[in-house]
Amino acid sequence: MDSKKETQAPRKKRIAVIPGDGIGQEVVPQAVKVMQAAGADVDLTTFDWGADRYLRDQVTVPADGFAMLGRDFDAILVGAFGDPRVKTNIHAKEILLGMRFKMDLYANVRPVRLLDAALCPLKGVEPKDVDFVVLRENTEGVYTDAGGVFKQGTPDEIATQEDINTRKGVERIIRYAFEYCERHTKLDGSPRNRVLMCDKSNAMTHAGSLWQRVFKEVSGEYPQITAQHMYVDALCMQMVRDPRQFDVIVTNNMFGDIITDLAAGLQGGLGMAASGNIHPGKTSMFEPVHGSAPPIAGKNMANPFGAILTAAMMLAHLGMAVEAAKIEAAVLEAVRQKKTTQDIGGPLGTREAGEWVANQVSHT
Ligand code: ATP
Repeated sequence: MDSKKETQAPRKKRIAVIPGDGIGQEVVPQAVKVMQAAGADVDLTTFDWGADRYLRDQVTVPADGFAMLGRDFDAILVGAFGDPRVKTNIHAKEILLGMRFKMDLYANVRPVRLLDAALCPLKGVEPKDVDFVVLRENTEGVYTDAGGVFKQGTPDEIATQEDINTRKGVERIIRYAFEYCERHTKLDGSPRNRVLMCDKSNAMTHAGSLWQRVFKEVSGEYPQITAQHMYVDALCMQMVRDPRQFDVIVTNNMFGDIITDLAAGLQGGLGMAASGNIHPGKTSMFEPVHGSAPPIAGKNMANPFGAILTAAMMLAHLGMAVEAAKIEAAVLEAVRQKKTTQDIGGPLGTREAGEWVANQVSHT
């Protein structure tokens, strides 16, 4: 028997922190401060990947970068990428899509939760009415950059953009949705027991047929979970008409991108939305749903709550449910007391809102 092993304290979770560009550099330090205030047992290492580094030495991702992240870290906390000085956005593509694709983080998990009725633009909607999750396929679809342009700049120009859907890719995200129901409850403690697959199979018939067939097949293995379907256009309308009807939504990469911006609107805007890029059993990456927001970058205006809730999601994923719950409760309290940035009606700056939440967390 290995007695040494038995007496060893559990190893601290190692987190790679990549603030990136624009408001990513402002909101991530707040998320880090709040994690530390919550007493999360983590080892943090910060990386300077982003536009500044790229403009300085032309490096987007250092050699061996993704392998290093997968090998040396338990999770990655990311801010945002995108900078007007890098017109091609090449660094954003190589870093962010690189992490998703090369680390095979196939499930983009985007919880949609309303913390306070005042944040929702819909009339008569209470927090319990907006509590669903969108699972976006994260490694395929139109993001693979397959396609091309012919006869560019001529009147005969042709542009094609391929939508790549593999049997393996579709099946694993659909299965993830059913498994997600089994592992999660709603905020009020009731079970998650409905999976809705969203597509546009009436127009995109080839890809749609694959999604339809796989969904039917996989849902058959989970008879206790209700399987539903909606076209993406209908889903957009229903989401603003009655968000109560949704539980777990699974969809492809592009529809997931679009409907989660719409869903963020139900939560109080992009500044409130969190996400995880997950491959079960592998190093996963967590990032707020918003981008680098150049118009407000550097002004201490960005809402840090999306990044803070993202950090909580990461801690929960790493088994630190108590710390995660403390952080979520503190953000909720900040929203209730209007200790927030202007985008959601408060008077505070990014740093001050982060500070308030950190302070609240450290007193709970
Ligand atoms: P990307 O394509 O990188 O996701 P995007 O084009 O969707 O980016 P964002 O950078 O996310 O755009 O932001 C769009 C606008 O939303 C911003 O200019 C800003 O007004 C608002 N916004 C986004 N994030 C925040 C935030 N954290 N706090 C306040 N406002 C925000």
